[in-house]
Amino acid sequence: MHVILLGPPGAGKGTQAVSIAEKAGIPHISTGDMFRTALKHGTPLGLEAKKYMDAGELVPDDVVVAMVRERIQKPDCAKGFLLDGFPRTIVQAEKLDEMLVQAGLTIDRVLNLECSAATVLKRLTGRRVCKACGAIFHVTNMPSKQAGVCDACNGVLYQRDDDKEDTILNRLEVYNRQTAGLIDHYRRRALLTDINADVPREETLAQMMVLIRA
Ligand code: ADP
Ligand code: ZN
Repeated sequence: MHVILLGPPGAGKGTQAVSIAEKAGIPHISTGDMFRTALKHGTPLGLEAKKYMDAGELVPDDVVVAMVRERIQKPDCAKGFLLDGFPRTIVQAEKLDEMLVQAGLTIDRVLNLECSAATVLKRLTGRRVCKACGAIFHVTNMPSKQAGVCDACNGVLYQRDDDKEDTILNRLEVYNRQTAGLIDHYRRRALLTDINADVPREETLAQMMVLIRA
């Protein structure tokens, strides 16, 4: 099963992806998480990506594509994968198609999380992330048991630099300008299903699992 998640920042892709990947038994590939991990380890890739992430801009296509190419060749991807945050431009989508064709694979489904601007803002400004393991929480919608501490690993929770209000607005603009076009790209190929992400996350997850199990 090869699945792509689309949707604006704050639609809940990251949180949902973790649950879907677990239920479907496929790896969750988040390019944003990969960049944050690289940055935590101070690698050249992480430092390069940081320049763009802090401004809410996209990392150049060739950098992201090379990273994904390497990732999807790992043995755990033999069963399929769930892409979260990739592709984000038409060029990335075309490169992904090339990679899959070469491997004799196809995309099974593209799930498009739809969400109001008000919900997006509320989710992003309240989001907290574990520094150690990347687990996602929300100050009101999904609080950790102890404030500021990760339920999974006791790591410290922090607010991503790009979850501050001025960067959020730019990320939404970048999404509309560079990523929203992918919706048509996949709809034309009859791969896309719209998912209502404006409802509690359990309902959104249920809508998606029906499609993934079908
Ligand atoms: P969100 O979906 O909440 O905006 P992500 O964690 O997916 O956040 O991405 C954070 C940042 O990482 C993006 O704003 C961008 O700078 C970079 N990034 C992640 N994935 C890509 C990608 N496919 N192409 C370019 N940049 C990316
Ligand atoms: Zn943690």
